[in-house]
This record gives sequence, C-alpha cells and structure tokens, in this order.
Amino acid sequence: MSTKANIEGYGAHSFSGSVADEYLTAAGLPSGTLNDHKWTMDPAAADKVADAVLNWAVDNGATMFCHWFQPVASSGVRHGLSGQVQNAFFKFDKDGTPVWDLKGKDLLAGETDGSSYPNGGLRATHTAGGYLKVDPTSPIWLREDTIFIPACFVSYYGHALDEKTPLLRSTDALNREGTRLLKLMGYEVEGLQSNIGLEQEIFLIPRDVYLQRVDLQMTGRTVIGKDAPRGQEMCDHYMAPPSIASPALACMAEIQRQCFQLGIPLRTRHREVAPNQYEFAPLYGTVTTQIDQNVIVMQIIEEVATQFGLAALLQEKPFNNVNGSGKHNNWSIGTTCGTNLLNVKQVAEASGSTDIFPTVMAAIVSGVDEHGDLMRAAIASPGNDFRLGACEAPPAIVSTYLGDDMTNYLDAYRQGKTDAYKPGTKELSLGVECIAPLTVPAEDRNRTSPFPYGGHRFEFRAVGSSQNVSLVNTVLNTLSANAFKTFADKIEAGAAPAEVAADALNTHWKVIFNGDNYDEANQQMLTDRGVWRIDSGVDAICTLSSQKNIDLFGDMKVMTEPECKARQTCLVDHYVGTVEMEALCLIDMLNQHVIPAVKACGGDHLAELEKAVGTIKHGLAAVHAEEDEQTRGNLARTLRLETMVDIREIVDTAEGETPASLWTLPSYKDLLFLDHNHSEYE
Ligand code: ADP
Ligand code: MG
Repeated sequence: MSTKANIEGYGAHSFSGSVADEYLTAAGLPSGTLNDHKWTMDPAAADKVADAVLNWAVDNGATMFCHWFQPVASSGVRHGLSGQVQNAFFKFDKDGTPVWDLKGKDLLAGETDGSSYPNGGLRATHTAGGYLKVDPTSPIWLREDTIFIPACFVSYYGHALDEKTPLLRSTDALNREGTRLLKLMGYEVEGLQSNIGLEQEIFLIPRDVYLQRVDLQMTGRTVIGKDAPRGQEMCDHYMAPPSIASPALACMAEIQRQCFQLGIPLRTRHREVAPNQYEFAPLYGTVTTQIDQNVIVMQIIEEVATQFGLAALLQEKPFNNVNGSGKHNNWSIGTTCGTNLLNVKQVAEASGSTDIFPTVMAAIVSGVDEHGDLMRAAIASPGNDFRLGACEAPPAIVSTYLGDDMTNYLDAYRQGKTDAYKPGTKELSLGVECIAPLTVPAEDRNRTSPFPYGGHRFEFRAVGSSQNVSLVNTVLNTLSANAFKTFADKIEAGAAPAEVAADALNTHWKVIFNGDNYDEANQQMLTDRGVWRIDSGVDAICTLSSQKNIDLFGDMKVMTEPECKARQTCLVDHYVGTVEMEALCLIDMLNQHVIPAVKACGGDHLAELEKAVGTIKHGLAAVHAEEDEQTRGNLARTLRLETMVDIREIVDTAEGETPASLWTLPSYKDLLFLDHNHSEYE
C-alpha cells in the first residue's frame, strides 16, 4: 500500500479544474468556463458543458447520471444522507442501437417525485412535485458507473426541501451584506464566501459482532452494554500508531484512495481518544463543496468498512462511558480572491486598513451573542444529547473563546485604541542544548469552548459526527450576514465604523469567555450572565420558529416562515423517530436476549427486567399520543435520557452477573478492541 499510488489520478473523477478544462476546450468552450456560473443560464453553453461531461464520463467508464441532493433533515444514521434517481444517458437511433446522449437540459434540471422525503408539511402526496436544479458552486463527480450532479431540491412552490438551498441562500446573504459593509469601509472586493474544514470522527468495529447487535445496526449506538474492564484509562489510543495488525489502517488508506480519485483532499488521519475511534480531516475549501464532499466521505467510509470486515459507526455516541464522536466545523470568511477576513495580517495587507479585522470580529461576536440559540439548534442532532456538556464536548451554552491577547486587543479597540492587532508569539525552550527553541503563538487552545477563535478561523466544536452540517453553516453565515447588515446600515446613516464596532462589542461582550467551559461554576456564571443556554435539544430545535429567528431568516432571505416551521417539524420528527427506534431495539433486546439469559442462569433482576418492557412501551405510547410537537419531542427525550438510562443500568448489572456462555449479545469487550480482537489478519 502506498499513498503515492493512492494520489495518482488525484481528482480524475471530479469534473473541475484541468480535468474539466481538457474536455471543455474540446467541446469549444474556454478553459475556466466552470469558474463562474453563467453557463447554467445559457442553453447553448450548457449543451457544450453536457457534451464535455458526457465525453469525460464515457472515457471513465460511466454510463449513468443523476441529480444528487440532500433531503431536509438528512442527518444522522440512515442511508438517505443524499437522494438520487440514477438514469442511463442513452437514447436509441432509428435502428434501435443505443447511442450516448446527454444534453444541457439534462444537466441543468430534473423533476422527481419523492413525496416520501421529510418535508414538514411543505408538500403532500397530492402536491408531490419536486424540482432539482444544478448547483454550479460544487463540482460534478463520478463514482463507479455513475456521474453525480450536485443539485438543489425544491417544491412546486419553490420551498426548499433540502439542506443545500438555504445554505446557498445564506452564502448569498453573506456575500451581499459583507461586500456592502467592506465597500463602505473603503475595501472593495469581488465577492465573499465562507470556507470550512470538517474533522470527521468515527468508530470502526468488527463487522461480525456488529451484525449481532440490533441496536448498532438499526440506530448506530448501543442502548445497553456493560463497560469493558478497559476504557480510556491509559489515554493510549489517541494518536497511537495506526497498526497493520488490524484492518483499520488498510481501510483508512482505501477510504483516502477513493476520496483522492474524487478530488476530496482527505489529508489527515489519526486515532482518536476512545478505543476504535478514528478521525479524518480534509484540507479546507468552500462551504458547499466541503459539505457535499463530507456527505460523500461519510458514505465512502460506511461502504469501504464493509470490504475490510468492519462496520463504521458515524453516530455521536455509540458507546457509553468512552468518548463520542464530533465533527469540528472550522469556519472562516474569505474573499473570492483568497483573502481570509479572519487573518489579521492578510486582511490588513489586502485592504490597507486595520479597521476591517476588528469590525468583522465585532460583527461575528455580536451575531453569536444574539443568535446562540440557533447555533445550539443547529447542533441538536439526537446523538449529541449524550455528548454536549458531558466533559467531552462543550456544554449547551453558547459562548466564544477569543484568547487573552485577542480579547485585550478588542477591549482596547472598543475604548478607542485603533492600533493594528499584532498576534503575539513566544519562544519555548525545550531545555535541550541541541534543539533550537520553538516559536509558538501566544494563545493556547481552549477545547472546552463551543466556538473558539483559533487564529484565522473559528472552530465550532460542538457539531455532531453524523450531521449534515448545512444548517450549522447556514446559521453561521446568516448571523454574520445580519450583523454585517446592521453595521452597514449604521455606517450608511452616518456613524463611524469604529464606533459601530465598539458599540456592538460593548453590547455583546458577555458572550466572550476564555475560561474552562466544563467547570460547573463557570456554566452557572455564564447562565447568570444571560448567554444562550438551551439544555434540551428539542427546545433548541423549536427556536427555529421563534419570531426573532423567523425575522432573521426572512430578512436575510434564507428561509421563509413556512420553511423555518417545516424544518423544525422535520428535525423534531427525526428526533422522535430516532428515540422510537432505540426504544424498540431495547424492547427486542430485553425480550430476545437479556430476559432469556437472566432466566437461564436464575439471575436476580428478572422481575425488574420484565417490568421494564412494559415501562418502555408505556413511554412510547405517551409520545405517540402527544399532539404538540415540542412536548412530544421532550417526552421522547425524557424516555431516552431518563427511563431508558435507568433500565440500562439494570441490564448492565445483569450482564456482569450472567455467565458469559449464557449472555447472547456481543459485549463491549468484543466490540471495542479491534487491536486485540484479531487472531490473524492479512
Ligand atoms: P486540529 O489540530 O485543530 O484538530 P486538524 O488539522 O485536525 O486540526 O483540522 C483542522 C481543519 O481546519 C482542517 O480541515 C483544516 O483544513 C481546516 N482549516 C484550517 N484553516 C482554516 C480556515 N482558515 N478556514 C476554514 N477551515 C480551516
Ligand atoms: Mg483534528
């Protein structure tokens, strides 16, 4: 296995850059045609692009095509993270012989049914038309025999039925309001975009034991299971050498190989904290492409794992009492020419002004303070219930860490000292003569903050591993765009930019917190300060329909009121559906495994376990009977986080008391120790 071999043919299956240009020029279009989006508005150009795509596809063995979309609430553990209907691109000539045929109109748009996708009431079976329109900001790609055309998915009335459309609207808003603000401050830029890099954590476990656990198969997490004798005590899994004694390394290399073919720059891989936990991270890029690619990466991870006798778990908390998985969303705002507005030096050089950087920072800080509820809503994936605040992910309190240097600088700025910010560095001696001192940033890292500034980017650390992060970035873009608009309006009305930034900092200073977010006293202090804190993920989701948020999304033209409400319904349904599946798994496992095993050994907990089955059924019936959306979600949450957790404790105790020969489910020891579970591996 060699990474060099893996990198050969890098990007050959992504219709972008030089790969696309070769075919575009052959079709009579200039190189770089795909760099702007005009070809999608010009039928003649679209026909030529289609011709180029067709030739590239056929040269690479593809004969099928599809519009590829991301249905609303397409998050979590299901194979519907993306939607598509695959069609062969041929027609028949008069002799009945098939000939390749792909026209511009085929690329540009599609129509589909799909009334069975979550839609939150935006469509019904009798109004089921769904329309697909190419997203030119993200490249077409090819896998196996099919080409995939990234597309938006909307209803007959233009309502967004997907994750991508609001994200693209939020990018437009960021661009619109951001360029306006910068122009008012004397810095004219062609355009703005947000850039992200997503760190994807996963578990890889032996497939044979995965196949014996209905909970893992159906819901991606274990609803019962006694701790193994070993957990994270030794801190020895984190960044340990990837071992060739298990299939994990070869599996990760194959995942990278497939990604490299698609032009997905998945360059980082390492072991994470929990046993069997791993991480991938790509080189960052534009938000739409990165999200498309992350959805593909998640699919590739799941598929490739099966080829290596493994099962990949993307769920946030597959196992109790060891760390769960997140997806850190590193986010920055850049000009389309490549200047990062969060890089103090770059932006000062490009704009000739030292006011732009603090103004952008002030805008983001004010947006986080005002709309922390939406940031919390955006990370309310069901699996995150078990992570947030559990000392492995930041709490459900939305503050931002800026570091002491940056905080002091902004503090001085709001008091009128408008000097340039000079990020400090310090020299670090290792105390070894032959090793030269290190130069390091003056700022440390704060891994307890949900939204730390890390020099050149913010890192939204509380995002869940199985999420489609479109809503996360839609929220970040929208709250920034809104703050940019507020600033621009004030400047247009005659206020000095530095005054506007200072005012915003004064009003929203409370959201800056550089201390330990895991500390309960600090959490209380932040709560008392009035920083957004929403413990229940369901309540967080339901802020999508608050008047403040309907106004925000409406003003920024990102989502209409019906779209906000529909999204809320989809997310609550997704949550309740998840809990229902977990509860039904627990019932089956109790009836089919736990109770028979405890009976067989004459164990102590039989009566409690038999009663537990009724308790869960009763809890589920109450959820189903509840008509109010938010109450229903919260009832499901209580069933999951209280009732089922209490029952789990009894089951896990019983597991410890039952002879292994009678326990018919794979244990945590069987599931979690890939390095020790293989007698041989080639
Ligand atoms: P860490 O040590 O913080 O875990 P990683 O290398 O695992 O770092 O991941 C950091 C991610 O942040 C990568 O995907 C990287 O490309 C991305 N990133 C770096 N700079 C920026 C930026 N300016 N904007 C957005 N993402 C960035
Ligand atoms: Mg990392």
